[in-house]
Amino acid sequence: MLVPKQASPRLNPCTRYNSDGSRCTQLTPRLDGWCGNCHGFRDPEPAFPHVPSRRPSSRRHANWTPTGGAPDELDFGDVALTHRAVTSYAAHHRCTSDEAALELKSMIEDFALHPYTKSWSNEEDALRSLTNGGYRLLFNDDWTVLRGYSPGSHLERTWAQVKVGVPTREPRFDPTHRMAGPAWYYALEAELGTPVRVAWNAATLFVHTTKGDRLKQRNARTYLPEIATRVRAAVDGWDGSEGRHVLEDGHPEPRAWTLVKEPGRAPIVCTVAFPESRAAAA
Ligand SMILES: [Zn+2]
Repeated sequence: MLVPKQASPRLNPCTRYNSDGSRCTQLTPRLDGWCGNCHGFRDPEPAFPHVPSRRPSSRRHANWTPTGGAPDELDFGDVALTHRAVTSYAAHHRCTSDEAALELKSMIEDFALHPYTKSWSNEEDALRSLTNGGYRLLFNDDWTVLRGYSPGSHLERTWAQVKVGVPTREPRFDPTHRMAGPAWYYALEAELGTPVRVAWNAATLFVHTTKGDRLKQRNARTYLPEIATRVRAAVDGWDGSEGRHVLEDGHPEPRAWTLVKEPGRAPIVCTVAFPESRAAAA
């Protein structure tokens, strides 16, 4: 998407940083300057920007009704961007307007093609929106103009980072606290003996996206054995090295599990997604 169409794209050094503050040393043809393999942070240290944002009032929320997935009439290659949308993105993600415009265009395309994107309609204000992963793109009523951008609860990471499972640097989501979730889940998860811990977040996401269900204590024994089997197969492909590893499980309906191993910490599977090959084919 961000790769130029020329046969031999020009390679430049990746401009981004890893979570530990180290500068990435890889080369990339991508126009956004990110190689896509490192953590992709623009700054070596987390610097959560204080972006003045108007908290959506309950009235504004109340007027939105769900309208299904991304609409066919959204011509993602031809959406105009308002100054407001671009400056909002640039302020949240500490980038230039040019970078913001490029990444918003890519994000609109991703949202238009992504199976979990939801669309919303606000008839009163003649607005439309797309949501995915907590992010929100605000459009005019015929989907031709991007009017606004909200990263939701994401303080720093872009959609592109979250999409590939880059963990947050927010202190409240410190990796040592990734074991969020109910005790019964971790008890059962331990009983199944997966080779690495599977975060509650990854298990609930799998059940939601693959089974169309919500993971509860009463249905956990239905779903967790499959998760354990898939994770066991995925972890077979891990070489034991540190960093972030996206591992496919080889299942007939494959999923890609993101395993994170940080220095001095136990490895953990923190999220799950469709394999990249599927996204690339879209
Ligand atoms: Zn990089």
